[in-house]
Amino acid sequence: MKKVNVCVVGTGYVGLVTGACLAHVGHRVVCVDSDIRKIDALKAGKIPIYEPGLEKVVAGAVRRKKLFFCKSIAEGMFHQGHTAQVAFIAVGTPPRSDGSADLSFIENVAREIAHSLREYTVVVEKSTVPVETGEWIVKTVNRFNKKNIPFDVASNPEFLREGSAVSDFLKPDRVVVGTNSNRAAQLLKELYAPFKCPILLTDIKSSELIKHASNSFLAAKISFINAVSALCERTGANVEDVAKGMGLDKRIGASFLRAGIGFGGFCFPKDLEAFYWISRQKGYDFSMLRAVKEVNEDQKLWVVRRAEEELWNLGGKTVAMLGLAFKPDTDDMRFAPSIDIAKALIERGARVKAYDPVSMANAKSLMPGVQLCKNAYECLADADCLAIITEWPQFAKLDYKKVAGLMRHAFILDGRNLLSPKDMRDLGFTYRSVGRP
Ligand code: NAD
Repeated sequence: MKKVNVCVVGTGYVGLVTGACLAHVGHRVVCVDSDIRKIDALKAGKIPIYEPGLEKVVAGAVRRKKLFFCKSIAEGMFHQGHTAQVAFIAVGTPPRSDGSADLSFIENVAREIAHSLREYTVVVEKSTVPVETGEWIVKTVNRFNKKNIPFDVASNPEFLREGSAVSDFLKPDRVVVGTNSNRAAQLLKELYAPFKCPILLTDIKSSELIKHASNSFLAAKISFINAVSALCERTGANVEDVAKGMGLDKRIGASFLRAGIGFGGFCFPKDLEAFYWISRQKGYDFSMLRAVKEVNEDQKLWVVRRAEEELWNLGGKTVAMLGLAFKPDTDDMRFAPSIDIAKALIERGARVKAYDPVSMANAKSLMPGVQLCKNAYECLADADCLAIITEWPQFAKLDYKKVAGLMRHAFILDGRNLLSPKDMRDLGFTYRSVGRP
């Protein structure tokens, strides 16, 4: 295997996992971040995010002197005598108020990489970006590449999921490489040679579109089954059986057909918006994407609607939310449905208590007015309603007999279909779940 010198700019969920996993398979990787606290923590052996398995991979690669951390792009591009052959841009592309992606972080990094070029380098967009961003990166690097060092730009979208990021990166379904240069394609093929998966080579624009189209399609699957669940609730059908029956058809597939209280996180909501925005910008009204968003926004209010159906006015009532992260096995609360749900409950006068196994630190600033509790039982004491927001497996293992005794009103809204309706009703709970009788 040929070893490649890599610089990864941005050590968030994507950059840190990318850097650590490439170092794990033998490449020499320097991870750079402008957040000095993150780099100091990483140098001290601490992982700034919660991601199962990441600590071990980072520690192993650091020990074998394959993985390094530094604070400046210049140092990352030329580190201890090694010049980066591949420079990944893995910084955030957050949504602007009009739904478009804010690409200023990408531009800043492209400019700094251009200043630091010493020999031929492939500049890779790893961040999720709208189609044609590659062209802007080429222009930016050209403008600031005063010594005319040869370079190419490639798109290499990332498909990892938070919560299983390390195994997703090490065992991907496919790697997509978009580039118009044979030299860049060759180098990136060498970089990904240790990964036993198909490598799809495309032009840059197609690769950029693959990422937005994939995330929007997965979001559409979730909204579709959520819309079906609404019909199940009105007819007495069971959405789990419907999803099973659909998913057994290989053309449909079983994944992303779990009804619940909507999707969130740093990817689906913002990528859906950005994809819609860029489509309109190019003169096409991709209205299907609007419907996917509308169903999701409405679905997030499922808890509020069902709570009012059972408790009438929510003023003076206490709702205990179990789970705050947008999904289990992550501490990421960016665009988590829990935030909108808590806000809507508080607006209706409810008192909201909450507990999450790993997101409490992130929740502090994002959930004003919510009482954060030390554990699930403290959260449930004297509650009128238990709302399951994130399907952490430990919530399925609570002592529900004890829970029934602790609550003022034995009422469960299972927003993730985590529990058995029969078991809960046998214990005396009033129990509602999404699309199940
Ligand atoms: P993040 O916010 O966790 O990390 C971004 C990092 O970049 C931060 O640590 C920030 O300090 C750093 N940064 C910003 N400007 C910088 C600069 N000029 N120099 C050095 N560092 C800088 O974001 P993330 O979740 O890792 O997402 C990064 C990109 O990857 C986004 O475009 C996202 O859409 C995409 N993506 C994310 C996921 C996911 O599951 N989180 C999956 C696939 C793709």
